[in-house]
Amino acid sequence: MSDVAINAAASESSPTLKAKDFSSGAHPIWCPGCGDYGVIAALERGLAKHGRPPHEVVLVSGIGCSSRLPAYTSCYGFHGVHGRALAVAAGLKLTRPDLEVIALGGDGDGYSIGGNHFIHACRRNIDMLYLVMDNRVYGMTKGQPSPTTEPDWDSRIAPGGPGLRPFNPLQLAIAAGANFVARGFAGDPDGLSELIVEGIRWPGFAFVEVLSPCITFRPEQAAWKKMVRPLTVPPAKDPPVATATVLSDDGFSLGVLYRSDSPRPPPAEKPSATLTDIERQFALG
Ligand code: SF4
Ligand code: MG
Repeated sequence: MSDVAINAAASESSPTLKAKDFSSGAHPIWCPGCGDYGVIAALERGLAKHGRPPHEVVLVSGIGCSSRLPAYTSCYGFHGVHGRALAVAAGLKLTRPDLEVIALGGDGDGYSIGGNHFIHACRRNIDMLYLVMDNRVYGMTKGQPSPTTEPDWDSRIAPGGPGLRPFNPLQLAIAAGANFVARGFAGDPDGLSELIVEGIRWPGFAFVEVLSPCITFRPEQAAWKKMVRPLTVPPAKDPPVATATVLSDDGFSLGVLYRSDSPRPPPAEKPSATLTDIERQFALG
């Protein structure tokens, strides 16, 4: 059975789910006004709409403010080590293709120490959603520039700005072979939840970059709500057009920027070995 069929079967057999069914009830320790509140609201709405129950969903994160998110949900969660969310999520999805696997984290976690995993996750095309909450700063470790920080962003830690050309995550994802690339905004939980559902249901690796303001270390990002707008062109179907769209955009257009009309199939659904087989292979003596 394909993942899509599994998902459809699950939603048919599940009672109607509500966003609150995906909340653990624990109160997030994020700063008041942090964009990540909007992202978790969008994720819970998207999961309810998708229709698989919390015990069939696994959220895998790295380290950072946004990577705390799995603990605030009722899904299974894995709060791993810095930059390794995609490696853990890939291993999990390959051994348990029946589960809905979502990797998530921040720009520092995913694009710096996790940058290599990001490239190869796009290339490997394992069926999962990767959600990156990008605030262009390392929030949890007190405001260092990240790979997406503007070169002239002046701060106490980097006076005058980092002076480095920022990383363009969408451009890199397309170049590395991702077939579904989108951008959402934490201040638009309804629009973001639609992108999340589409990304979850996409047959292969789906990347959704989320503009999620860090109100503490980047208070000027409060202005993002006036800067974002829906993408004015339909999703590109081939990489050169998608790349041109991404490069000509100011980074505030929201929606699906690239949706391949001939996506490569993800790797086989059935694991080539059971967990017991793998344990046997690694047994000592
Ligand atoms: Fe959010 Fe920034 Fe506070 Fe972290 S430091 S919780 S990213 S507002
Ligand atoms: Mg960050």
